[in-house]
Amino acid sequence: MEHFVKFQNVSKVYTMGEVKINALHDASFEIERGEVCVIVGPSGAGKTTLFNLLLGFYAPTEGEIAIDNTPLTADNCRRWQQRVGYVSQSLFLTDGTFAENVALGIAPEEIDRKRVKEVLEMAQLGDFVRSLDKGMDTRVGECGCRLSGGQRQRISITRAILKNPPILILDEATSALDTESERLVQEALEKLMRNRTTLVVAHRLSTIRNADLICVVHEGRIVEQGKHDELVAKNGYYKHLVDMQKF
Ligand code: ADP
Ligand code: MG
Repeated sequence: MEHFVKFQNVSKVYTMGEVKINALHDASFEIERGEVCVIVGPSGAGKTTLFNLLLGFYAPTEGEIAIDNTPLTADNCRRWQQRVGYVSQSLFLTDGTFAENVALGIAPEEIDRKRVKEVLEMAQLGDFVRSLDKGMDTRVGECGCRLSGGQRQRISITRAILKNPPILILDEATSALDTESERLVQEALEKLMRNRTTLVVAHRLSTIRNADLICVVHEGRIVEQGKHDELVAKNGYYKHLVDMQKF
């Protein structure tokens, strides 16, 4: 059987001098094209490590990741990364303008400014950027403001929306937002997730409940996987997280 994304017994050990950290151990799961896979689990469980492996930022210590039945390697991971919109917990900003940062990787003269304006609105950054002296042509480093965690996170969301990728990987994409902007940005993200293959670390039960596959990660292991109703019926760790409202 062919699967779009397949993790097979994937482990990742970080080595820091003498210290070894088993961040992910023996992880196996698979998803089909167009499905939404949600990763849940406490801080330090290995969620970001799983995404970094999937993006080919580093290779598994053991096991194999396959995309479209082809093993992910150092040689083919760039092509894969080009198909993915990735919203990470930490954002890299260049010292260019807001427009250039939203359209990262696109030559300044080729930037579709109308589209940049649209995605800034979608990510609830329209008012903020308009309030700057030179609007979207203000250099990020010169705008006289220190961007808040939420603003940085929304810039990272604009990049994913602008790229319009077939695959989305969202790592706690709304964790730094206040409740009001979270609701609005969440709506923009849910629109973006439609008809796309999405892997997402999510905290909202509404997103989690609708997932095609939930992987529950605890101390580096996928301890349970399945759909919401199946996992609730299991009455295990996932059910515990639901009862505690702890995602
Ligand atoms: P999560 O995203 O679920 O919070 P992470 O994947 O970031 O978890 O981390 C899993 C474990 O691996 C943690 O113990 C963390 O401290 C460790 N870890 C993560 N990244 C690194 C790294 N680059 N080097 C060493 N240890 C790391
Ligand atoms: Mg993380």
